[in-house]
Amino acid sequence: MLDKVLIANRGEIALRILRACKALDIQTVAVYSKADADLMHVRLADEAICIGPAGATESYLHAPAIISAAEVSNADGIHPGYGFLAENADFAEQVEQSGFTFIGPRSETIRLMGDKVSAKDAMRKAGVPTVPGSDGPLPDDPEAIIEAAREVGYPVIIKAAAGGGGRGMRVVHNEAALVNSVQITRGEAGVAFGSDVVYMEKFLQRPRHVEIQVIADGEGNAIHLGDRDCSLQRRHQKVIEEAPAPIIDEAARREVAEACVKACKEIGYRGAGTFEFLYEDGRFYFIEMNTRVQVEHPVTELITGVDIVREQLRIASGLPISVAQEDISFTGHALECRINAEDPQTFMPSPGRITTFHAPGGPGVRVDSHIYDGYTVPPFYDSLIAKVISYGEDRDQAMARMRQALDELVIEGIRTNTALHRELVRDASFMAGGVSIHYLESKLEDG
Ligand code: ADP
Repeated sequence: MLDKVLIANRGEIALRILRACKALDIQTVAVYSKADADLMHVRLADEAICIGPAGATESYLHAPAIISAAEVSNADGIHPGYGFLAENADFAEQVEQSGFTFIGPRSETIRLMGDKVSAKDAMRKAGVPTVPGSDGPLPDDPEAIIEAAREVGYPVIIKAAAGGGGRGMRVVHNEAALVNSVQITRGEAGVAFGSDVVYMEKFLQRPRHVEIQVIADGEGNAIHLGDRDCSLQRRHQKVIEEAPAPIIDEAARREVAEACVKACKEIGYRGAGTFEFLYEDGRFYFIEMNTRVQVEHPVTELITGVDIVREQLRIASGLPISVAQEDISFTGHALECRINAEDPQTFMPSPGRITTFHAPGGPGVRVDSHIYDGYTVPPFYDSLIAKVISYGEDRDQAMARMRQALDELVIEGIRTNTALHRELVRDASFMAGGVSIHYLESKLEDG
């Protein structure tokens, strides 16, 4: 087993990783920016090292500072969490070249999946269904672009191969707008992602976002932990997630999960990962793979009993996956509400001092959060401050427990989106299950 793990992240996920390390008797090293000295996991870690000023580019994104911290603390593994450097292939490579274990896939795998064109290509070859489209980068020739769109059929979406975070995408409804839209997307992608490679996909009109969690050991063994529905999104940011995805064609569900496992085996995938799909009319279409632990991993943990971060640490230590596919059963239902420090109306970030925090509890309630009474949410990072997670024997019970949990939750001193969550878990369409990725935004527009 790894002896000492450096946690290259902050907030709730840093605390989640620390807890998993403690349970496995692994020593922990917290690294933090000058704005984060008061973080909960910094207090709880065996060692804590300040790696730079508040700005993420000079701290959590500054690879040399993190690697130096691993050197001085004599850590043997580095866990990147999610966001920041978690999907940066160069960072993973530097970590390994410096003699540390990167707790995640090999850098080649991160690179392959980080380019959406090569990721889609690899998935298609492995038999994973993908969104119909240009099957490769779009050429420069306007005639060839027009021809490609005619073949795919309108509407189409132009996407940056190196895009992420819901940016670098443009929907095109007709031929008149096509060539210009491709050029604009190229230009934006070049500036934002350093690559102007774009590709084309059929734009699905009312899909759901359904994803498959996998775990693999890098030696050709892999399992899946079922699916999650993350369709409730605002600006491509997930707001509520649940497992399993409700109202899914059972044969399609089984098939897609098996295809993901097969793909992991074929590419020798290592660690935890997520295959993201759009689901429409009973069919799955791969859009991208996330080569890291995800924010919404707890809902899967609750319905499978598998501790995903523990598995990451075990696999990075060279141990086998601790469960076999046939031993995994999917029991009950889980929901997760992302509580953000933001204005409930304008969605503007609302950093500041939390004067009162009271976490909900009771059967089937889990709260993953780093906040506490008197904690000050800094303005420099993501606004996620807590994940309220509920579990029930079925979806109705999970929903009822979530309603109660949200009613018990008290966060004072800053504004949060708790009121929006309270409304959503009483929303008839969401409660019925199976809303599309556009549902939340159209509901918000209607006021
Ligand atoms: P990112 O890496 O930026 O998150 P994704 O490829 O995962 O980009 O797409 C983000 C979101 O954009 C999806 O969850 C979905 O809402 C929308 N989207 C992407 N591709 C399509 C498509 N072909 N049809 C409809 N919506 C899409």
